[in-house]
Amino acid sequence: MFGRAPKKSDNTKYYEILGVPKTASPDDLKKAYKKAAIKNHPDKGGDPEKFKELAHAYEVLSDPEKREIYDQYGEDALKEGMGGGGGMHDPFDIFSSFFGGSPFGGGSSRGRRQRRGEDVVHPLKVSLEDLYIGTTKKLSLSRNVICSKCSGKGSKSGAQLKCSGCQGSGMKVSIRQLGPGMIQQMQHPCNECKGTGETINDRDRCPQCKGEKVVQEKKVLEVHVEKGMQNGQKITFPGEADEAPDTVTGDIVFVLQQKEHPKFKRKGGDDLFVEHTLSLTEALCGFQFVLTHLDGRQLLIKSQPGEVVKPDSNKAINDEGMPMYQRPFMKGKLYIHFNVEFPDSLSTGQVGSLLKVLPPKPQSKLTDMELDECEETTLHDVNIEEEMRRKQAQHQEAYDEDEDMHGGAQRVQCAQQ
Ligand SMILES: [Zn+2]
Ligand SMILES: [Zn+2]
Repeated sequence: MFGRAPKKSDNTKYYEILGVPKTASPDDLKKAYKKAAIKNHPDKGGDPEKFKELAHAYEVLSDPEKREIYDQYGEDALKEGMGGGGGMHDPFDIFSSFFGGSPFGGGSSRGRRQRRGEDVVHPLKVSLEDLYIGTTKKLSLSRNVICSKCSGKGSKSGAQLKCSGCQGSGMKVSIRQLGPGMIQQMQHPCNECKGTGETINDRDRCPQCKGEKVVQEKKVLEVHVEKGMQNGQKITFPGEADEAPDTVTGDIVFVLQQKEHPKFKRKGGDDLFVEHTLSLTEALCGFQFVLTHLDGRQLLIKSQPGEVVKPDSNKAINDEGMPMYQRPFMKGKLYIHFNVEFPDSLSTGQVGSLLKVLPPKPQSKLTDMELDECEETTLHDVNIEEEMRRKQAQHQEAYDEDEDMHGGAQRVQCAQQ
């Protein structure tokens, strides 16, 4: 990249690139590089080639040993000494070492060395019992880990050749001239190295990972589902996601998904709801039943003597709801919603018996004469919800048609204003 055949003894070019005299002090070099690198940083629309040159020139001149070789023998000697380009570093790393990241604030498009791996999210099905009692689930997952044989280098020797397609940057930049003084820069990952910036010699390939740098590993994770955890709650295993070289490993995140329970519903965080249907006799004369709780305990639930339970009424038992997360000794309420099943019909005999024990019917204030003047009617059974739904749908349809007609006129009006 620095010219295939420079003058044999060219030992001034690096100073010229940085714009400093040959007598420049390390401090002068630092200042010169800093200023020029900010100006030419590709993130600020600078020329990537120029930026690379600056980094390379600074890398050489800031190292006393390399600077001496360069001053005495020139660029070529340095290249040989550094062993086939292996000694050159990523220009963005050199730049970052100055500023500890991008000096432009926000995320630089090239935090290549501190890239964060993706989090892996798994749903985890749990029962309401699991959330009530707490449980541990063992899950076997396979993940990528850095190859132990080559420590993620991908090669036996540890050597990584710079991809010739992108000079090791992993990105290719194409520049388009849009007009005088106007250029457009397009960046795309290098196709030859899939954006890694490196290639590995076939014979040098690590036999364990085949040059992939990572291998698959099975791992068993123990997920502790704690008492009182909620549907949708996340349990995170930091840094357990796929490993990759030069990457901060992401997390494995389990998201709890509570399965529907046939009997208990959880609402309002820590409260439980159950439905219970009583016969009319139970509702009037008292009841007693056993409810098996989520932890298998048998709760005896009974009415007070003489108590009448009305249809669609609710009762609650304190401290029999869900345990509170991280305060499992505190519990919510258990609500019971009562339905009452009435008999469909009664025999004349039953009616007679009931009339003897139930409070008297309200007396009719009408005389037989007055009754004779009334019109007879017939009551019939009806599914009121179904009928209302059908009527609403009909109404909506008519309304929609109405809207269509008036909507058009309104739009015209608006356009005129
Ligand atoms: Zn490449
Ligand atoms: Zn390997």
